[in-house]
Amino acid sequence: DDLPLDGAVALITGASSGIGAATARRLAREGAAVALVARRRNRLDQVACDIAKLGGEAVALEADITEPERADDMVQETLDRFGRLDILVNNAGIMLLNSALHTSIEEWDRMISLNVAALLHVTHAAIPHLIYAASTSPRQVADLVNVSSTAGRVARPGSSVYGLTKFGLNAFTESLRQELLSERVRVSVVEPGTVDTELVNHLSDTTRDAARQQIDGIEALRPEDIADAISYIITRDRRVAVNEMLVRAGGQT
Ligand code: NDP
Repeated sequence: DDLPLDGAVALITGASSGIGAATARRLAREGAAVALVARRRNRLDQVACDIAKLGGEAVALEADITEPERADDMVQETLDRFGRLDILVNNAGIMLLNSALHTSIEEWDRMISLNVAALLHVTHAAIPHLIYAASTSPRQVADLVNVSSTAGRVARPGSSVYGLTKFGLNAFTESLRQELLSERVRVSVVEPGTVDTELVNHLSDTTRDAARQQIDGIEALRPEDIADAISYIITRDRRVAVNEMLVRAGGQT
């Protein structure tokens, strides 16, 4: 049977856990060959192995994409392995919630270097190849999906710089959308609410407990719920452009 993404190649950053891993599995199930990017080799291998077992095609690319050359390499290594690039999912991100008074400047730097700088490097390297894929693939469209957050729409205490990166990502997405629509590259943003992932593990003790309580206090989203949203966007016919999806947990204000 024909699958919606047969013949397409997808690059997913942050594919070793959470939303990225779920998205990789989902797009592979839809027929895409997937390149999985993150730092934890064993976790990437696990995802790649699961995909292969289900008859899909995956390659694990171990990299810290905050190193600019490594970010560029990811696009090149995907092309070397699969010959093209139809879909980029910019998902890798870190959320270090803290007040401006109590945070370290190093925490702010880490969010900027991953959520913004690394994303820009991967995107810049990918754009020419997405344009080429759109003009040569049977789908006649390519997709760039950015994973933002409700924190990209609503500012709250403790998320000042995380919100800065995600509000900025929304603006970046909207500009690129307009620039690339004539090239048939769709540019979209997904804004997840509270998803039960390892994202909060990076927080310091007190903020982690608060974040955990927030997740446990409601029925949080599962990574697969966001993978579902991303898959919906990517598998539309090329006449449809889902620009933005805000997906909160049912019990989330
Ligand atoms: P995870 O922590 O599970 O996933 C983050 C991913 O990014 C991991 O695969 C991690 O892999 C990767 N990553 C981190 N640093 C680097 C790096 N330097 N180079 C390459 N990869 C890196 O959390 P989520 O799945 O929740 O997060 C995914 C995205 O979703 C983020 O952008 C986050 O902001 C966003 N989001 C999450 C929400 C939530 O409630 N969970 C809500 C709204 C948005 P590794 O450590 O192996 O490098």
